[in-house]
Amino acid sequence: MTPIAETAAAKIRRGGRLDLDEALALYEHNDLLLLASLARTVKERKSGRDIYFNVNRHINLTNICAARCPLCAFGRGPGSADAYVMEREEVVAVARRAAEEAPDLSEIHMVSALHPDKPFSYYLGIVAAVRAALPQVHIKAFTPVEICHFAAIGGLPVGDVLQALKAAGLDSLPGGGAEILDDGIRSVICPRKASSAQWTEVVMTAHRLGIPTNASLLYGHIETPRQRLEHLIKLRSIQDETGGFQAFVAFPFHPENTGLPQLTRVGAWEDLRMVAMARLMLDNFDHIKAFWMMLTLPVAQLALAFGADDLDGTVAEEKIIHAAGATTGTSIAREDIIAVIREAGYIAVERDTFYNRRRAWGDDDNG
Ligand code: SF4
Repeated sequence: MTPIAETAAAKIRRGGRLDLDEALALYEHNDLLLLASLARTVKERKSGRDIYFNVNRHINLTNICAARCPLCAFGRGPGSADAYVMEREEVVAVARRAAEEAPDLSEIHMVSALHPDKPFSYYLGIVAAVRAALPQVHIKAFTPVEICHFAAIGGLPVGDVLQALKAAGLDSLPGGGAEILDDGIRSVICPRKASSAQWTEVVMTAHRLGIPTNASLLYGHIETPRQRLEHLIKLRSIQDETGGFQAFVAFPFHPENTGLPQLTRVGAWEDLRMVAMARLMLDNFDHIKAFWMMLTLPVAQLALAFGADDLDGTVAEEKIIHAAGATTGTSIAREDIIAVIREAGYIAVERDTFYNRRRAWGDDDNG
């Protein structure tokens, strides 16, 4: 182990903050069990033996996209045979059905492509209609990239877009579209969508308006480990300033059906290293997700030993990740999430989107 990696490990044990060189030294040291031990220590300091999940439903409104990013398997041109757009009544029907099928449903999660013609009023109308249909359910919708798109099509400042969505019933934003906040990388993997500065402007504006967001990173394409860590430092700096991020999630790149088919999906080793590095770097984030649908359930379960404290949701229906070749299911039963968490020796905590506890299943309590 290099002296700098040793310094980094000692710093973590003392509760200190890693700089880029220290993080890179730990990363390159590549001792997965050391990373696990350090990250688990940090996780348990923050959330003890609790591991969170929620009962949610994803709805992807449209796959018709003006950006057509090379990284994406989901977006389609308007004339494509499998292009689709959901209208308001259909979205409300899906949301209502989700609430009937899962009476504990606490969140509707809507993200979509950048439709070239749908006006901003279409999205506002959908949020208002879902809010009216399910007044108790949290609406987490529209990535910062979509918010930039709405600002462009509506001719509005980002703050006005966010305020209008909040007034219609939006509660929080997911953190997608961050990819790697490096415009050199973005010019290859997603040249026509929001820049690093635009993504950052949206999340900081949202946080200032009292709209929390998540943060994300897409790894395993053309970026270097240093660029991944620089991205984490950017997120950490935003969080220092606003405190508005609720959770971080790292998405592994799935190359199938994308414009980058020459790449191969990274392995479980890299997935777990990424989760651990996120937990070590993002000292001001309360929650690190292991998104089971992207990682597979077995790897997500292992990630609980690498600093993750959230397996995300029951999901039920998701198109974007599966378009890129994910072979995981599109939903999971609550009992199965609970079993996976308890098998790892942790307490399963069903949460709402703000991480308030709804129920818990621990050692002695079958809930
Ligand atoms: S990643 Fe998003 S913006 Fe890019 S093509 Fe896919 S749906 Fe469109």
